[in-house]
Amino acid sequence: MIDRYGRKIEYLRLSVTDRCNLRCIYCMKEDGVCKRHHSDILSIEELTEIAQAAYELGIKKIRLTGGEPLVRKGVLTLCRNIKAIDEDIELVMTTNGTLLPEYAAELKTAGVDRLNISLDTLNADTYRTITRRGELSDVLSGIKAAQNAGFTHTKINAVLIGGINDNEILDMMRLARDDDLHVRFIELMPMDIVRGWDKSRFLSADIVKEHLNNYDLIGYDGVAKIYRPNGYKGTVGIISPLSHSFCDRCNKLRVTADGKLKPCLHSGEEINLRGLHGDQLTEAIKDGINSKPKCHNLGEFHSEAARGMNEIGG
Ligand code: SAM
Ligand code: SF4
Repeated sequence: MIDRYGRKIEYLRLSVTDRCNLRCIYCMKEDGVCKRHHSDILSIEELTEIAQAAYELGIKKIRLTGGEPLVRKGVLTLCRNIKAIDEDIELVMTTNGTLLPEYAAELKTAGVDRLNISLDTLNADTYRTITRRGELSDVLSGIKAAQNAGFTHTKINAVLIGGINDNEILDMMRLARDDDLHVRFIELMPMDIVRGWDKSRFLSADIVKEHLNNYDLIGYDGVAKIYRPNGYKGTVGIISPLSHSFCDRCNKLRVTADGKLKPCLHSGEEINLRGLHGDQLTEAIKDGINSKPKCHNLGEFHSEAARGMNEIGG
């Protein structure tokens, strides 16, 4: 489907849980989420029904996210269900990677095409500071497990946080030097708990370019600007929602774990999908596409979204 501004909407992000085994300082409160009843979260059947309806409206790529998708019971069944709709749907997942040693092979068998693994630092202490409870070695083992399971073109998502990991840009980039890994630097977004953080924490992702001595701009991958430094196997990407809005290329819809469709990450608008089936569900998704705003309103270190990233899925 084409929205009011001529954008072809082909990409759906499904948040399959708001829970997580980590507590990243920019995403969740230390004491986690207020526990929702199991029935407040979309069931695997409901998620499948939404994926089917969206597919019929032209969605070609589905990303499972969260919270941490690998703590969601039934996530492998959901992967198989989505691939059963049409094997050609591009099925991808964003994960913190810590549970991949256990799940990577099963994800591959269940039909997941590619993984994005979130990793903001290569320093074990900084990793503990950012995630409040994670071990760097677990996510590094997760990356290896993904490679051993046959995943290729894996992306590493790193959120830039001034004073915390901006001294590691070159080290992080080098993950893409010797390996088929694609590092994406993402600007910290002022969502929920990040609102009110000191301005020095928010960096323009353009600082990454200072470390790209000899590089070629290859082009775009979705909303990321992609560079391949000389001699690198993988690529380095920059995603800058704050400093350079990319709304004119936004082809996404998002569904929260409790079944609300968000036409835009940074707007407060939500359309309920829960309890809808058949034509009603299709019409609600169409409403979402038709109400995608031209651009988000993220300029002044403030997002209008009323939820944290763990509920929306990034
Ligand atoms: N748990 C999974 C993970 O961490 O990859 C999936 C969900 S997480 C909400 C998805 C992505 O959102 C992660 O890459 C995370 O770093 C990013 N994220 C969370 N809060 C953010 C914020 N305030 N600004 C920018 N990115 C954020
Ligand atoms: Fe969990 Fe991902 Fe949020 Fe970190 S960013 S707390 S891993 S959902």
